[in-house]
Amino acid sequence: MGIKETIKKYPTGLIGRAYALAERAHAKQKRNTGEPYFSHALAAAEILNQWKLDEATIAAGLLHDVVEDTAITLETIKKEFGEDVAFLVNGVTKLSHIKYRGAEEKVENLRKMILALSQDLRVIFIKLADRLHNMRTLGAIPREKQKRIALETDEIYAPIAYRLGMQNLSGELHDLAFPYLFPKEYEWLKKTVPDAYEARLKYLKKFKGVTAGIFHENGLEPSTIDLRAKRYASLYRKLQRYNMDLEKIYDLVAVRIITKTVAECYAVLGIIHKYWPPLPGRIKDYIALPKSNNYRSLHTTVIGPEGKFIEFQIRTKEMHEENENGIAAHWMYEQSKNRPGNATDAFKKMAKEITWVQQLRNWLSWSGTAQKNPEEFLKSMKIDFFKDRIFAITPKGDVIDLPAGATPVDFAYQIHSDIGNACVGAKVNGEFIAMDHKIQSGDLVEIITQKGKRPSEDWLGFVTTSTARDHIRAAIKEKDALRETKRIPTKTELRIVMTDRVGLLKDITSVIARSHVNILNIHTSNSSSRFHIGKIQCTTTDKQKIEKLILKLKKIKEIKEISYQIL
Ligand code: MN
Repeated sequence: MGIKETIKKYPTGLIGRAYALAERAHAKQKRNTGEPYFSHALAAAEILNQWKLDEATIAAGLLHDVVEDTAITLETIKKEFGEDVAFLVNGVTKLSHIKYRGAEEKVENLRKMILALSQDLRVIFIKLADRLHNMRTLGAIPREKQKRIALETDEIYAPIAYRLGMQNLSGELHDLAFPYLFPKEYEWLKKTVPDAYEARLKYLKKFKGVTAGIFHENGLEPSTIDLRAKRYASLYRKLQRYNMDLEKIYDLVAVRIITKTVAECYAVLGIIHKYWPPLPGRIKDYIALPKSNNYRSLHTTVIGPEGKFIEFQIRTKEMHEENENGIAAHWMYEQSKNRPGNATDAFKKMAKEITWVQQLRNWLSWSGTAQKNPEEFLKSMKIDFFKDRIFAITPKGDVIDLPAGATPVDFAYQIHSDIGNACVGAKVNGEFIAMDHKIQSGDLVEIITQKGKRPSEDWLGFVTTSTARDHIRAAIKEKDALRETKRIPTKTELRIVMTDRVGLLKDITSVIARSHVNILNIHTSNSSSRFHIGKIQCTTTDKQKIEKLILKLKKIKEIKEISYQIL
């Protein structure tokens, strides 16, 4: 049932009211295509409706650009449609502020940040539906913007869809982005491929009839035998690996066989191999050993009639649906692979991601759950596997992955120890903040550094990452060691040449005491019968004070000469 039919049936329902408000709010706006802006909101909501999402998500789909692009506030949405719809609209609005600037290394963190910021898979679905419609209508905007959106789609949103197991959506997004990212290559494919496609299709159509007959003879009746043409974007990627030789792409058009049971999959494979010899090394059992994104199927390439290569993909109906739209588990492999660190951390992370994958699996059986068990449905949509991580952005657009509660000092050390050590201040979203400020996901953090600055011991009281703690400790140790080797002077020795008399030493010490200088020790000796030498160590190192003291001491007539040395 389409959205308009739903509204006819329930005119005052959530979807009906969202439709009315969105249409009114966007009334004066036009898209670059010249169509009324509302047509975009409606198209995005229709996609969500096709994905069988709940009513709040479809309503939020209708309203997804209202807060960002019209005078209507989030408070109004909350009042009119409730917390849930407002939460979803706010989530999509937050995501629209993230701009991918093509920092390749951190792209994985950016994908995670999008998930963490969303908090709810439904926010991602709305964003994906929004992006799908924007990509389908991308022709009407300026070239530079087209390229940026296509790149973001190709590197961020299509991979997210892939991991959510939405293979069809992921493939379509890559395909839609392809002409904008590789215009020359696209032109080449458009010129070169159709003839090859055509020839393959013709050949395989004939072959399909033969195959069906053979299965029948052997007492097997697969549900369907389909011919599937490879998408341009993935064809191009494959061609690059095969010297741009179309002849070598055996799955340009593949034969897809859908069976009723797993046993039938293997039976079908056996029959195919009985009639046509398989190419060695091209038999893949992704049923026994699914791909990391949980893709399941049997693949084989055989030498068919006229010596031509034919690729078969054999799977049950259930596998097929899961492959196309279901849920993927790619995530944890990537994760454990990409992150050096201690094993416990990697394990904890993996455990968390398994939970995530589990949640996604549960979601697989979600179609219909929205109606049957709304509470279960909402619970399965929560993204909480990142609730103890935060993702903050550098001014260059890199995403930094930190534990919850992390401060600008942690952020600085995460970028580089030199930046951490030289850190003197920080701005979050343009505002100066205290060093123990807690960063939130999506914050833009700017670190202010000063050359030669050393870390403060106080930082140890609030940093959360071991990287920061270790570096601060190391820097403090280094400072102590420096003090050791340079040895700051602590005392002065006065060397006095004098003739002796009774009470002279007492006169000298009282002059010193009156000058507020503390005596450490006194040592006298006879250098000859006429002169004595006194060595007096004092605790001051203040030159001025010492020189003044010397002037006073020189007034004592028995003192012939005074010199001093700071030790
Ligand atoms: Mn939009």
